[in-house]
Amino acid sequence: MSAIVIDGKSAANSIREAVKAKIIERVTKRLPIPGLATVLVGDDPASQSYVRAKHRACEEAGIRSVAVNLPADISQQDLDCVLSDLAKDSTVHGILVQLPLPKGLDEENVLKAVPLEKDVDGFHPVNIGRLAQKGRQPLFVPCTPSGVIYLLKEYIDTLVGKQAVVLGRSNIVGMPVSLLLIKENATVTICHSRTKDISTITKKADILVAAIGRPEMVKGNWIKPGAVVIDVGVNRVDDSSKKRGYRLVGDVDYEEALNVASAITPVPGGVGPVTIAMLMKNTLIAAERADA
Ligand code: NAP
Repeated sequence: MSAIVIDGKSAANSIREAVKAKIIERVTKRLPIPGLATVLVGDDPASQSYVRAKHRACEEAGIRSVAVNLPADISQQDLDCVLSDLAKDSTVHGILVQLPLPKGLDEENVLKAVPLEKDVDGFHPVNIGRLAQKGRQPLFVPCTPSGVIYLLKEYIDTLVGKQAVVLGRSNIVGMPVSLLLIKENATVTICHSRTKDISTITKKADILVAAIGRPEMVKGNWIKPGAVVIDVGVNRVDDSSKKRGYRLVGDVDYEEALNVASAITPVPGGVGPVTIAMLMKNTLIAAERADA
């Protein structure tokens, strides 16, 4: 058996094209152009490259983007002032604080300073809290987790009653993915670094989401035949055959998984592109809500 490769780039293109079409419509109706502000603290190269990709996507979609780059040693108070100015700026509909923040800054306080209606990354404690509560909906769902659900739904008719195993319990991926899967009425098991005998658990999963940041840890014999595998991991491994000296791999051994799973996302080209597309979608939604 060779698994279907779930094409994240194509899914992302559809989302981005739909966003772009709605923005063109807004322009013809003379409605405000959606605006996204990114706040990058420090000079972490990976964060810089993620932020650049977000600005490129904004440009393609017709979203106005503003980059706020701040020094790593900025005080909590000064950062609060920057966020407070962005909160008041009516041309900024979405504010994204690139995580992780440098040490010394209180992440929860920073995320709380983003107004709920501009929290396009969905990490405000109230939005996350609503995600965890039955019968409540957040104003925005975090982009990578919503991308995971989008890709699953591209391939599976219904998630109801499926056995889902999520590897990882981070605030930005593992936990919100698990909460979303529960909202979809899947039965969810979460594994983390203290979980014992993980492969016995993963072998029972109809849906396996890997978000651990461990290159190719999930082997083919960890996967239930016919399972749908979403690989969120993005890991650099040395590769002297590449000009840049490394290649990107996921948390799943892709070649092995291809022989067992019924469908799988590749790395790169799976969850990553959909994450950025979801950010564009959330920014458009924020602008649409501000019209009302
Ligand atoms: P993280 O904050 O480091 O969390 C990793 C999680 O994996 C933790 O819950 C940790 O357990 C668990 N874990 C680590 N080693 C493990 C092991 N050997 N066995 C079982 N569980 C283990 O990472 P993250 O931010 O969630 O990111 C995870 C991966 O997704 C990374 O590769 C990251 O680059 C990628 N990512 C991709 C996108 C995208 O758009 N494609 C977006 C965000 C992240 P504990 O809680 O016990 O420590």
